[in-house]
Amino acid sequence: MTVRLRAHHLLCMLTFVGEGYTPAFTANYRRIAERLSAGEEIQLVSGPDDICAPLLEEKEPHCFNDSVLERDAAALADVAALLGMDVRPGSILVPDAGLLTRLRQSFAGGEIRQACIRCEWSNLCDRIAANNFEGILVGAR
Ligand code: SF4
Repeated sequence: MTVRLRAHHLLCMLTFVGEGYTPAFTANYRRIAERLSAGEEIQLVSGPDDICAPLLEEKEPHCFNDSVLERDAAALADVAALLGMDVRPGSILVPDAGLLTRLRQSFAGGEIRQACIRCEWSNLCDRIAANNFEGILVGAR
């Protein structure tokens, strides 16, 4: 099995501490966090992914909005530049300690935060990064 993630969720997974839009959303996200923590591979996808899934039952899910697609493009560019590799929908990434540490260091340093501009969760993610990612659920030991 692979966890299907859209590009900007490569960033969001770094600061997930159990907060989210709805109880169903966070319950699903917690299960995904466990799978990622167990090292399950990530397959990048275009558009809504496994984290979005519970929101797709809503009348007008924001997951299809242009602004969200722009977040994906920004995250894809930042992560590709950081890793020095071509990263695109269909790419497979392994969320091992090395990758998560590298992403978190760059996230905390503000180097891969273009996707976070105007995100409603930005203050929370800033605080988590500033607090040395205490309480995170992906890759926690
Ligand atoms: S600020 Fe928004 S886009 Fe950036 S990691 Fe946090 S939730 Fe994701």
